[in-house]
Amino acid sequence: MRLGVMTSGGDAQGMNAAVRAVVRTALARGIRPYAIREGYSGMVAGGEMIRAMTWESVGGIMHQGGTVIGTARCQEFRTREGRRQAAKNLIVHGIDNLVIIGGDGSLTGANIFRQEWPELLEELARGGEIEAGAAQRHPALTIAGLVGSIDNDMHGTDMTIGADTALHRITEAVDAIASTAASHQRTFVVEVMGRNCGYLALMGALSAGADWVLIPENPPNLDNWEERMCQVLRAGRQAGRRDSIVIVAEGAIDRQGRPITSQYVRQVLEEGLEEEVRLTILGHVQRGGTPSAFDRNLSTLLGHAAVEAIASGEIHGEAVLIGLRGNRVTRAPLMACVERTHAVNQAIQNRDFEAALRLRGDNFADSFRIFRTHARALPHPPAAGQQRFRLAVMHSGGPAAGMNTAVRTAVRIGLDQGHELIGVRNGFIGLARGDFREMDWMSVNGWAHTGGAELGTNRTLPAESDLYHIARNIEEHRIDGLLLIGGWAAYQGAYRLYSQRHIFPAFNLPIICLPATIDNDLPGSDLSIGADTALNNIVQAVGKIKQSAVASQRCFVVEVMGRDCGYLALMSGLATGAERVYLPEEGVTLDDLRDDLNNLIAGFQNGKRLGLMIRNENVNPFYTTAFMAALFEEEGRDLFDVRQAILGHLQQGGDPSPFDRIQAARLAARCVDFLIAEAGKDEPDSAFIGIQGGKIVFTPLEDWPRLIEKEKQRPKQQWWLDLRPVAKTLAAAGGP
Ligand code: ADP
Repeated sequence: MRLGVMTSGGDAQGMNAAVRAVVRTALARGIRPYAIREGYSGMVAGGEMIRAMTWESVGGIMHQGGTVIGTARCQEFRTREGRRQAAKNLIVHGIDNLVIIGGDGSLTGANIFRQEWPELLEELARGGEIEAGAAQRHPALTIAGLVGSIDNDMHGTDMTIGADTALHRITEAVDAIASTAASHQRTFVVEVMGRNCGYLALMGALSAGADWVLIPENPPNLDNWEERMCQVLRAGRQAGRRDSIVIVAEGAIDRQGRPITSQYVRQVLEEGLEEEVRLTILGHVQRGGTPSAFDRNLSTLLGHAAVEAIASGEIHGEAVLIGLRGNRVTRAPLMACVERTHAVNQAIQNRDFEAALRLRGDNFADSFRIFRTHARALPHPPAAGQQRFRLAVMHSGGPAAGMNTAVRTAVRIGLDQGHELIGVRNGFIGLARGDFREMDWMSVNGWAHTGGAELGTNRTLPAESDLYHIARNIEEHRIDGLLLIGGWAAYQGAYRLYSQRHIFPAFNLPIICLPATIDNDLPGSDLSIGADTALNNIVQAVGKIKQSAVASQRCFVVEVMGRDCGYLALMSGLATGAERVYLPEEGVTLDDLRDDLNNLIAGFQNGKRLGLMIRNENVNPFYTTAFMAALFEEEGRDLFDVRQAILGHLQQGGDPSPFDRIQAARLAARCVDFLIAEAGKDEPDSAFIGIQGGKIVFTPLEDWPRLIEKEKQRPKQQWWLDLRPVAKTLAAAGGP
C-alpha cells in the first residue's frame, strides 16, 4: 500500500505535525508514504515533486509554522487535463490513497479527482501512457481530508488545524494593543482574518475582553448600530475603563449585506467619540509563528487517524473528512461537510443570519451571547420582581491561568443582572476568617488576560473547626450562593460543606464548582481551565531545552506537574514528540527503565541526536527524575549524555491561553445563571460544571465520591488515556 500526503491552499500552523503523524503512522503500518510537494502543482508536475518519505524526513518539523512540504494554489488542477496528468503521476508511484490537508477548496478538488479517477485511468491506459495492468491494480482512489484553515470555517470538525494558533497570535496582539491603549485612554480598531467566518473575530474579542465585535454571521441588527456602538464605548469609559477595543472580521457586513470595513468603523468611532482612533490590521501575523500545543496535538491525532482509516480498508474508494468533535476523532463523508459549510456562506449571502448563526453550531452562538452580555454588562438594578441575591466567588487549589477571567465574567454578569458579588480572598482560609470584599464593575478591570489569581488561592481545606466560622460568615454576609473556581481542594471543600448541611443550615445554599487546575484531574469535565496554558508553557520550555542540545548527543528527562494525573505528561509528550512519557496511571518499574535504556542506546547507535523523555512528577517516589537521569547517563557511557529539567512553577504561571479564557468565560457565565436559578430555593441544588464532548454539563455535587479515586486524587474515567497508543506509535522508532 502506498499513500501520498499533501498540504494545499492557505497555509496553517500545525500542518507539519499532521504530515509527521501521517508519515510515521504509515511507516508503522507498513504503508509507503510519499510527500507531494507544493500542493496540487506538485501532483500535476510529478517527478521530483513526489518523494518517498522516511521516519527521519519528518523529524524536527513539528514546532515549525507553515508547511515544510510547501503549499500552493494551482489553476491546472481545476482542469480535467491537469487532473489527468496528476493521476498519471500518482500511478507512476503506485499511489492510490491520499491524505489531503487543506481548506474546502482543496478538499472539493480532491473529491472531483476521486470521482474521475477510474475514467482518467482508463483513458491513460488507452493512450498507452500507463500500462493496462496499473489501471486494474488501482481501481479506486481513497481520500482522507484534514481541514487546514486558520478560519475554523468547516463543518465536520469542532476545530480546524491552525485556528487555535491564529487565536494565540490575535490574543497576543490585542493584549499588547490594550496596554498601550490603556496608557493613553485610546480606542483601537483591530481587523482580523475571516472572510466568511467570524470565528477568529468573535473568539479573539471574547478572549481579549474587547468591547465590540463585527462578524459576517451576525451583523448588528439595528439601523443605527454605529450610534449604539459609540454609546457602549462611552459608557465603558464613564464606568472607568481606560481602553476601548473593537474587533472587525475582514468579511464583516451589515444587514443589507454591504461590507463594514475596519476603516469605516474607525471613522465612525472617531466622529462619535471625538477622539483619535487607531486602526491595526493584523494580516499575515495570524498565519505565523510556532503552532500552539493544541494545534500540534489536533494535527497529530487527525493525521494518525487518517492513516488508520486508510490502513483499515474501511474507507476504500471513499472521500472522508477526519475531524475532531468533543475530543473524539470522527469520520464523516467529505462532501456532506463541504456542502454544510457552503450552506453557511449561502445563508450569509441570502442575509438569513439566523440560519448562519445556527449552522455554525451551539458553541459559536453561545460564545456570541456571552460576548454580547459582556459588552453590555454594566451594573443594573434587578429586573422588576427579581430578587437581589448576594453571590460569593472564591478560589481553592493551586493557581491556574484563567481563574481571573472566570471571576471577571462572574462578577460582571452577576452585576449586570442586578445582583451583588462578594469576593472571598485566599480560599477557605478567607471564608473562615471573613476576608470578604464587595466587587464592583471596575474591580475586575483587566482581569480577562492576567495570569495568577487576584483573589488568592491555596490548597487548604476547611478543617472541622473552621466549619462553624464559615457558617457564621455565610449568615452574617447573607450569602445566597457560592461559586468555587479551582481544583481538587475546591471540589473536596465544597463537598465537605455540602455534606454538613444537616449540621449547619447555613450550608444549605447552592454551591457550584468550576474546574480550574493545570492538572486536569477533576471529574465532570474533559478539560479544566489552566491546563491548556500549562501545556503551552511546557511545549515552549521543551522547545528551548531541545534547542540547547544542538551540538551534542543528548537525552533530556523533563519532569512536568500533574500530581497523580498524567494528562500534562501525555499531552506535552505528544506535542513535543517525546519518545517516552511516564504516567502515574501506569507507574514505572525497573524492567521498564531497562527497556527504555536499551531503546535509547539503540537509537543513539543508529544516529539519533536527541532524546526526550517526559516524566510526571508523581510517577514513582523512588525512581525520581534525578535517579532516571543518572541511570541513563551512567549506562549511556560515551554514546550520549543526559540532563534533567524540572519545569516547576513556570507551568502554573503566564497569561491564560485563548482557549482557557474563552472556556473560563463560558463556564463562569453559566455558573452565575445556575446560582441565580437555585438561590432562594428551600432545597437548592449544588453541582460542578464541566465540558463533556464539547458541551457544557452540570454534575450533582453529591456524585463527587462516586466519580473519583480518592487516594489517587483523580477521576475514575479519564478519556485521554485512549490517546496513549498514538503517542506510542509515533515514538516507536524514536526521535522527536
Ligand atoms: P483552500 O483549500 O484553502 O480552500 P483554494 O480554494 O484556493 O484553497 O483551493 C486550493 C487549490 O485546490 C486550488 O488552487 C485548486 O488547485 C484546488 N481546487 C479548489 N477547488 C477546486 C475545484 N472545484 N476543482 C478542482 N480543484 C480545485
